Amino acid sequence: MTSGKFLPAKILDRRVVADDLFLLHVDPGGPFSYLAGQYATLGVEVEGERIERAYSLCSSPYENVLEFFVERIPNGELTPLLYAMDKGAPLLLRRFAKGRFTLDLRSGRKNHLLLATVTGVAPYVSYIRTVRTDWKKGGTPMPGEHRLFCIQGASRSWEFGYRDELEKYAAEAPWLKYVPAISRPWEDSGWHGERGRVDDLIRKYIHLWGLTPEDTSAYLCGHPGMVESGRGILLRAGWSKQAIQDEVYFQPGKDAAAAS
Ligand SMILES: Cc1cc2nc3c(=O)[nH]c(=O)nc-3n(C[C@H](O)[C@H](O)[C@H](O)COP(=O)(O)OP(=O)(O)OC[C@H]3O[C@@H](n4cnc5c(N)ncnc54)[C@H](O)[C@@H]3O)c2cc1C
Repeated sequence: MTSGKFLPAKILDRRVVADDLFLLHVDPGGPFSYLAGQYATLGVEVEGERIERAYSLCSSPYENVLEFFVERIPNGELTPLLYAMDKGAPLLLRRFAKGRFTLDLRSGRKNHLLLATVTGVAPYVSYIRTVRTDWKKGGTPMPGEHRLFCIQGASRSWEFGYRDELEKYAAEAPWLKYVPAISRPWEDSGWHGERGRVDDLIRKYIHLWGLTPEDTSAYLCGHPGMVESGRGILLRAGWSKQAIQDEVYFQPGKDAAAAS
């Protein structure tokens, strides 16, 4: 049963990006406000049971349609159901967005190092779209003040989801850099861009971009292994705990933990 806690959202579009990756466009079905970087809770009801999970919003609060970048987990409870849904299918959306993984505009640090694995780019897409809209309008907090430096990792190049959009924005905006990197180049012979895992690239890019712990807030989002390893690298490079935020998408299951 739905209650006052939920909005009667519905799927407007579902676009497959790669085998297990898809974008969802969702009509919230009522007023839904959020900050760039927050997450929504989506759910479906199956035989009277509600299955709900958190999903970072890729869309900007300036947009009417909510957008999500989702990985289908073959043995997962919710994502196979979301993947199978057609346009018009109903969804439960918790009325309130949550999360503190928002752009740090208060600390005084003007650079923002945004590190993501695959779908972990979602909150950064929301930051970038929002900042870009402000920049185009000549409003606050941009232009000129803050600079965003995004590294997104994936196994292969067709898994980035937002590469075209982010490369286009990076080409026009002096405040944005975007580096997509793949970790399995032997499975993607046509790729001529950056190679390696996100955590392995952190030192290279903080040096290349001239980022220092004093002037840079760091963000880690997505796979728990990247978040843990990336955090360690940043701490060893002089970042304080206060200058690092993270959003971990899942805890490894027992099987994965045993295998690692
Ligand atoms: C704040 C927050 C924001 C999130 N945003 C996103 C998002 O934008 N896009 C997105 O796709 N997911 C996101 N997630 C993860 C999402 O909430 C679900 O956990 C995920 O979609 C799996 O749901 P499921 O019901 O299909 O699998 P479950 O039934 O919950 O999990 C089944 C098993 O798969 C493992 N598992 C779960 N996710 C993964 C994964 N990605 N890779 C490998 N193993 C996994 C679990 O540990 C478990 O053992 C977010 C999570 C949090 C906490």
